[in-house]
Amino acid sequence: KPVIVAIDGPSGTGKSSTSKAVAAQLGLSYLDTGAQYRAITWWMVTNGIDIEDPTAIAAVAGKPEIISGTDPDNPTINVDGTDVAGPIRTQEVTSKVSAVSAVPEVRTRITELQRSLATSAEYGIVVEGRDIGTTVLPDADLKIFLTASPEARAARRSGELKGADVNATREALIKRDAADSSRKTSPLAKAGDAVEVDTTALTLQQVIECVVTLVEE
Ligand code: C5P
Repeated sequence: KPVIVAIDGPSGTGKSSTSKAVAAQLGLSYLDTGAQYRAITWWMVTNGIDIEDPTAIAAVAGKPEIISGTDPDNPTINVDGTDVAGPIRTQEVTSKVSAVSAVPEVRTRITELQRSLATSAEYGIVVEGRDIGTTVLPDADLKIFLTASPEARAARRSGELKGADVNATREALIKRDAADSSRKTSPLAKAGDAVEVDTTALTLQQVIECVVTLVEE
């Protein structure tokens, strides 16, 4: 039976690196659900949709065709046939993604894509996000909730962004997590049956080993 692993948590906790490595090590597929929300946000921005207007966003939520490649060694994200892996990581998209992903019609649409990818994965899948264990895949075989101190998260993000100001990164990160945690529809949350792993004092390798062990148990 294919194994389904849900990995949730705020940004900067090592979710993506951990999820990708665990999937690769165990021969599973991998889905970055944040990339899907970023992709639909990129499409909204590119098509001039007013991000402040949830009704306008809801009206076109079904329009873009979003395709995720689930190979952990080469995850891809395409919108209407265009590779958007680079453009979805800009500061503009990052600052707007929480507003777009708070719109219920957007979540319904993206959640459908996620469930269909998860149930069609031949050997199983590691799905990372904010609401996977609570909403998208409540019957997952294993649920992990990653946490880390705000300082550790900001430092990791600044490291990724090469030289970005740590304080500015920290503020932006806290703001995005607050928005993601307070939205009405499936907010960032730990499922009751999730295993919480605090990564503050752990290396990436230690977190990967910890999760692999939990999957194999
Ligand atoms: O994981 P990443 O930082 O790329 O996620 C970008 C944004 O996508 C989050 O800040 C959140 O607004 C949204 N998201 C979500 N639900 C998920 C995954 C991501 O709302 N399952």
